[in-house]
Amino acid sequence: MIDKLNKFELEKEWRSSLQKFTDKDLLEVFPEAKKVIPSKIKEWELIKNRLGKKIGDSLSSIYLLEANDFSEWFGEEVIRQYYFPELEESEKNMTRLKRLEIMISSKNKYVNNFQEKLERARNYPIKDIAQQKLDLRPSGSNFVALCPFHNEKTPSFYLYANSDSFHCFGCQEHGDVIKLTMQLHGVCFSDAIKLLN
Ligand SMILES: [Zn+2]
Repeated sequence: MIDKLNKFELEKEWRSSLQKFTDKDLLEVFPEAKKVIPSKIKEWELIKNRLGKKIGDSLSSIYLLEANDFSEWFGEEVIRQYYFPELEESEKNMTRLKRLEIMISSKNKYVNNFQEKLERARNYPIKDIAQQKLDLRPSGSNFVALCPFHNEKTPSFYLYANSDSFHCFGCQEHGDVIKLTMQLHGVCFSDAIKLLN
């Protein structure tokens, strides 16, 4: 009895753990599965059309019979029991897959768009951003200024124009043009990207 109960509990646990995964989650683990979605929609569509035709044929053959109200009702009920669950299943799956398809395409567009903007922001000359707020002094082929990340009296903040990066020898802050924009303009990552675009 206890064993049976344990088994039941374990099965319940196993079932609830399964439900944590959605199609969306699984597509992130198996992105290859995206390719099969259009063909799966087609398959369900074929099933739906086949069933629709069967239902239509069966109904019209009932109406052709010399049937009374009861046998007509009974016939329709039988058809409903036999064909409709599968029809509903095909419609449900088609809707789900189409929604998934839309989600994938709009997400990709969004990600691609953002990646482009990120690339453009990264290529913005760091000197142009720095000199808006900092007093830059030439130092060899680079520039030096008072660090915007910490308080200091003598400059230890170096700007490397060639690599579009900065490093502070006082507080060890370093980074690229995006990080510097966030600090100098007091904005978040995505606002810095917007600003640099
Ligand atoms: Zn510093």
